[in-house]
Amino acid sequence: MATVTNLKLDSSLSEIKGVGQVLVKNFDSIGILTIRDLLFYFPRRYDDYSNVVKIVNLRPGLVSIEVIINQISGRYLRRGLHITEALVSDSTGSIKLIWFNQPYRAKSLIKNVSYYVSGKFELRSSRFVIMNPSVELVSDFPFNTARIIPVYRANRNISVRQIRQAIGLVFKANIKIPEPLPDNIVKQHTLISLYEALYLVHFPESFSKLNQARYRLGFEEVLALFLASLKNKEFLKKTHSKVINFNETLAKKFVSSLPFKLTNSQRKVIWQIYLDLEKDLPMNRLIEGDVGSGKTVVALMAALMVINQGWQVVFMAPTEVLARQHAQTINDLLTPLGLSDKVDLLVGSKSLKEKQLTKQNLREGKTALIIGTHALLEPDVLMDKLALVIVDEQHRFGVEQRKALQLKAGSMPHLLSLSATPIPRSLALTLFGELSISRLLEKPAKRLKIKTKIIVEENIKCVYQVMRDEMNKGRQVFVVCPLIVRDNFFKGKSVELIYQQFKKEVFQGYRLGLLHGKMKPKDKNTVMDNFVKHELDLIVTTTVIEVGVDVPNATVMVILDVDQFGLAQIHQLRGRIGRGSEQGYCFLVGDYSITKNPRIRCLEDLDDGFQLAELDLKLRGPGALYGLSQHGTLDLRFASLDDKNLIESAKKAANNFMISSDSLIKYKELNEKVVYLSKISNLN
Ligand code: ADP
Ligand code: MG
Repeated sequence: MATVTNLKLDSSLSEIKGVGQVLVKNFDSIGILTIRDLLFYFPRRYDDYSNVVKIVNLRPGLVSIEVIINQISGRYLRRGLHITEALVSDSTGSIKLIWFNQPYRAKSLIKNVSYYVSGKFELRSSRFVIMNPSVELVSDFPFNTARIIPVYRANRNISVRQIRQAIGLVFKANIKIPEPLPDNIVKQHTLISLYEALYLVHFPESFSKLNQARYRLGFEEVLALFLASLKNKEFLKKTHSKVINFNETLAKKFVSSLPFKLTNSQRKVIWQIYLDLEKDLPMNRLIEGDVGSGKTVVALMAALMVINQGWQVVFMAPTEVLARQHAQTINDLLTPLGLSDKVDLLVGSKSLKEKQLTKQNLREGKTALIIGTHALLEPDVLMDKLALVIVDEQHRFGVEQRKALQLKAGSMPHLLSLSATPIPRSLALTLFGELSISRLLEKPAKRLKIKTKIIVEENIKCVYQVMRDEMNKGRQVFVVCPLIVRDNFFKGKSVELIYQQFKKEVFQGYRLGLLHGKMKPKDKNTVMDNFVKHELDLIVTTTVIEVGVDVPNATVMVILDVDQFGLAQIHQLRGRIGRGSEQGYCFLVGDYSITKNPRIRCLEDLDDGFQLAELDLKLRGPGALYGLSQHGTLDLRFASLDDKNLIESAKKAANNFMISSDSLIKYKELNEKVVYLSKISNLN
């Protein structure tokens, strides 16, 4: 039966026999253009209709039967409601099938041939029937009945059945799917071929076969990640960085000039960094530390050693507000050493003239430590003595960006990343092998634990009271909303709306500010500066304040529609308050469901960013945790990080491959994936 065609993965859908122009267009609406897109459009779940039973043995639930049709007819019950009823039977009995608004059924089904019927067997008006079942000829290859049925995400234009059918047609047309993995890996790890895996994911013969397919696809995902990680590691090994010698006198001088005593954690991490810097290999270290654990000063001590030896340092922050604050802090901390004139700031909102001067000083080497936003990566920012890059609160700064900086500097800069969102151990150990990680486990002493409480919206008045009390005591308040403006689809709280409501009704007489990401950088700075200077009592804001901002006088954080935020994000937000010596209060506000939501509830007790990150990983997966799901690839679709066997095997395969004489270039598809991943996978 099967026709011989030359369908390939990259063929367009229109080349499938039986898929017409309209359908092609409709597939387009869910982003499926090629056969590859189609075959990699994976089911979101499976319904088990594989067990075909006799009518006499039917039990309520999802069922399949093999029957012939005795009677079938359709009629309108009332305008717009059509019903088709059929009586079907097998050797053990008969049963009624009912379809609503599928008038074609009566014509398309013929009597006295065998059909598979799959659907939900349930009680309707005191009678057991099967509602809206799928029906297919037994003599056909059934897509929708009598098997484990994949269920896909569909939409108004395209139905689940059409997706199944199209995939079925692809396999019927004898598609050739080349094997992307090296032969010996497939053999050694007894993997099924990609062809077989794809077939089984869409047409699983059994759940154990399905698991084999999942294992195979998961193996490939993790293998590619490991290979990318090893490639990055290998690349970094071949490059050289400036050797930065440790200067004990300078370190001691700086430490004794600090207004506080370093924690043991800070000392340990600084020491690890100094050891890294003494090697001519590029450092690739991530400092993980909860909000307020004092990462900035640790980074500054790294910078200090570098500038002392005549090299330059870039300190990059994700927002202007934060960059400005860092510049201020660092200026203060370096003043006692007489080094503050070597520090400068480069942000978009500076005037053209100021920017030009900043760049010139940098070029001439007068500035040794430049703080700023991503603007620092622009090609006209030149600094040929760059030896260290510090990246604050930013989860993605890859080898590629470093390479770009290397071009400015002539040698590979050392890289130090700071993050309050830790990479869970399981993820770090498995997927980011090229990264050295330091953890700041201690918090500087005498900080009170923030009191966190879940509040149902109806009771928000008691939160308003606490806010007033605190503001009357001279403290300040953050209110965070998920949206900037209210949109039609999503009934969330918008900053605009809340700001207006507070100003006009709830908090008349208090000084309110509004802050969100769509504002001009200059306006944002003004609002933030005014808040820092305590010229504002309360700001209504989006997550722009998530990262880093330090206002020790702020004691209340109110998060509205809290279920819209990730755990790590909420924890970050909460870290904005209670940074001084006063008690901080965090209110998590939402509808009634949040009181039952374990994800939100754990925030009341848990105060440890590391634990929260592990939990978030479990609940939402790595993609969501790092906001990388838009990149797709990092969202492991089949591999589970808990599957130690899979992770270990894929790791072994990757290691063996890298030391073998085999070359990735031979495996075009795998290689492309690895190259792509090595660009984006660096989570540091
Ligand atoms: P984060 O890790 O969140 O970036 P910061 O580096 O901004 O934290 O530090 C938070 C605050 O704690 C700053 O005001 C900083 O000066 C202060 N700090 C840092 N280290 C110590 C310490 N060892 N003892 C007391 N305060 C410290
Ligand atoms: Mg910080």
